[in-house]
Amino acid sequence: MADFYDLLGVDQHASPEEVKKAYRKKARELHPDARPDDAAAEAQFKEVARAYETLSDPESRARYDRFGDSGLGGGGGSSNGFGGGGGGGGLGDLFDAFFSGGGSPFGAGGRGGPTGPPRGQDLEVVADLAFEQAVFGATVPVTLRTAVACTDCNGTGAGSGTQPVTCADCNGRGQVQRVRQSLLGQMVTTSPCARCSGMGQVIVTPCPTCNGDGRIVTDKTYQVDVPAGVDTGSTLRLTGRGAVGPRGGTSGDLYVHIRVARHERYRREDINLITDLPISIAQASLGTRFTLSTLDGDEELAVPAGTQPGREFVLRGRGVPRLQGRGRGDLIVRVQVQVPTKLTDEEAELLRLLAQSRGEVIETHDKSLFSRIKSAFT
Ligand SMILES: [Zn+2]
Ligand SMILES: [Zn+2]
Repeated sequence: MADFYDLLGVDQHASPEEVKKAYRKKARELHPDARPDDAAAEAQFKEVARAYETLSDPESRARYDRFGDSGLGGGGGSSNGFGGGGGGGGLGDLFDAFFSGGGSPFGAGGRGGPTGPPRGQDLEVVADLAFEQAVFGATVPVTLRTAVACTDCNGTGAGSGTQPVTCADCNGRGQVQRVRQSLLGQMVTTSPCARCSGMGQVIVTPCPTCNGDGRIVTDKTYQVDVPAGVDTGSTLRLTGRGAVGPRGGTSGDLYVHIRVARHERYRREDINLITDLPISIAQASLGTRFTLSTLDGDEELAVPAGTQPGREFVLRGRGVPRLQGRGRGDLIVRVQVQVPTKLTDEEAELLRLLAQSRGEVIETHDKSLFSRIKSAFT
């Protein structure tokens, strides 16, 4: 299923007016009356209508922006739109709003064949990844409860030895026409057939395994290829890996939401990896060498004499790969100079000597001074 914005040919920030305008234009191009007997155009018309149905409602549009098609609840527009007989569902309303009343450019009503079985539901699942798996990519299993085609009836829903038969109410067209009088004259409206839900066929003897639904609910495990560079909040769409539609309908999509575990030493800032490097006063002052164990293996790191707290060493290209693009971020090593909190008498003496030779004043906190300071603050 294509992106709804792409279907309408607008970008994500399009105003409601722009969305409406784009829909009208597309719908005119693709309307079955403008392109009779063009099945591809008709299918596209339905997709476009579904996209508009979602994007024209601020709430469902917000949900779509966050979760894609899967956030829309229910089986998505294609089944909902054709589900309600008589009065017509969402699609019927759109039809009426744009193609009748004010003098339709195509004459009366819509024409079209059976809608076929509804598309299956989109599903969502969370994949938990280790930190390294998110950085370098991985294949991880996800297990979910989903609907698969019933093997006893091959998804048709018809009991063994029987076939679905043409619906008598609509003669297999999936749609019924109604004639009504309006101020502008006689108008023909088309709505989905209530008896066969627009499918054009009905099942006389349902398959006992699936009760005529053509599918059964089961747990299924998929191996998901997770690209390098994903992070918590990334969502992958696996087309056609959602629930199968009833009675041989196509499958929905599967949305895999990524959740990444913390690392004990590394954290991410966008595509950079950050780590802290604790060093002593002596190491900072005199310089030293470290062997740093990075996600790519050991790296030598030279800390020069006179390194200040907070200094950053940047290891280029040792960060996280760009999710959609080339190259990798950097590994940033932040120096933390650690001041010792417990000193032996010898260490204290050495530091006193150091201070003395640098002319620094050292005031030993004897008990009385300490209590004086303390009382000054209380
Ligand atoms: Zn069955
Ligand atoms: Zn029918």
